[in-house]
Amino acid sequence: MHQPQTFQPEVVYQQSSGGQHTLPQVLAAPSRYIQGAGVLDHLGTYLGLVPARRVALLITAGGERREGVRIKRSLEAAGIDSRVVIFGGECSYAEIDKAVVEIKIQQFSADCLVAVGGGKCLDAGKSIAYRLGIPMVSCPSLASNDAPCSGLSVIYTPAGVTELLEFFPQNPVLVVVDTQVVAEAPVRYLVSGMGDALATWYEARTCIENPAGRSMLAARPTLAAAALGELCAKTLYADGVAAVAAVRAQQVTVALEHVVEANTLLSGIGFESGGLAGAHAVAQGLTVLPQLHATYLHGEMVAIGLLTQLVLESKLDEAARVAEFCAAVGLPAHYGHLSLKVSDTEDLMAAMVGATAMAFLQNEPFPVTPASLFAAAVAADSLGRGVVGRVGDEAYQRLHQPVAR
Ligand SMILES: [Zn+2]
Repeated sequence: MHQPQTFQPEVVYQQSSGGQHTLPQVLAAPSRYIQGAGVLDHLGTYLGLVPARRVALLITAGGERREGVRIKRSLEAAGIDSRVVIFGGECSYAEIDKAVVEIKIQQFSADCLVAVGGGKCLDAGKSIAYRLGIPMVSCPSLASNDAPCSGLSVIYTPAGVTELLEFFPQNPVLVVVDTQVVAEAPVRYLVSGMGDALATWYEARTCIENPAGRSMLAARPTLAAAALGELCAKTLYADGVAAVAAVRAQQVTVALEHVVEANTLLSGIGFESGGLAGAHAVAQGLTVLPQLHATYLHGEMVAIGLLTQLVLESKLDEAARVAEFCAAVGLPAHYGHLSLKVSDTEDLMAAMVGATAMAFLQNEPFPVTPASLFAAAVAADSLGRGVVGRVGDEAYQRLHQPVAR
């Protein structure tokens, strides 16, 4: 089946005058962001801001069992009619088309789509809402990813392999993050989200410092995106360890609120409007190895990608600081933590070849080849092992059994 052409930011923001091509600075963000313990109980009231009267609710079967009753109660209390559409788990065109047809067949002219769940459910929700021509509302149940605030979706094949990115002219109109729900989810998701979020600043900085660097909006980053990215990293260094302890105790604390905001809002706007670079290129490259793709979370691969990017950029002191943070919160601090030995040169080279195919790698200020990235990965592995030798990796071992190499 052929898919509708979505938004093309590089066409919209391209400028040229007098033979010169210039890029504007562009910032994209949700219209409202609401975060707090128990906020999901007030979803119906918040949907009045959209305003929504007839809601298609995209949620997994498990999510419906856990949160369905309270959500429906809140919608009913606000006089909002709703229909549930079960999300099967993959953000693929097959699922997106099926949900669009299902909503149309119900002859329920939904005026808003609310997606409740993890990153793939929210990304599928954006694609479905775009096809129906209605606004989309994100209710993330995890703080593990950048899906809630961004105006793009990662589309996978039904087998779960990354297929392409879809861009939309609007970001989710409203984002509602219930920190009590995040506090009750497995801690590994929060930790993985910190890996994804920590890279935001270092990748945005690379884009900003390179005059040819472009954000995910195919534009130049604003000062605002840079400031959000920098605040994101600062927040994680300050509150990351305490936030992990809070989720272990299933308690919402100030540190957890800060880290949820860093992982969801600061990182979400920061990556889209600030831009990506080596860290995400390596993370995407690593997904060509099926054993990694199946076992590790996106943010865990981004953490190793970030170490590799900083070594590639010869920023070794910062790489050591990142490795120490990873060791402290339980993120991978060397390639062995992703079950990858750098002596398995074939696998590592395949991943680095995959990474160099990523367009945002061109935001690095110098040409990067598979060989130079491979060398940076080997050096990053050794740097990370040195840090783990000094500070240990107890936090990582608590999250990952059996023990990784
Ligand atoms: Zn990411």
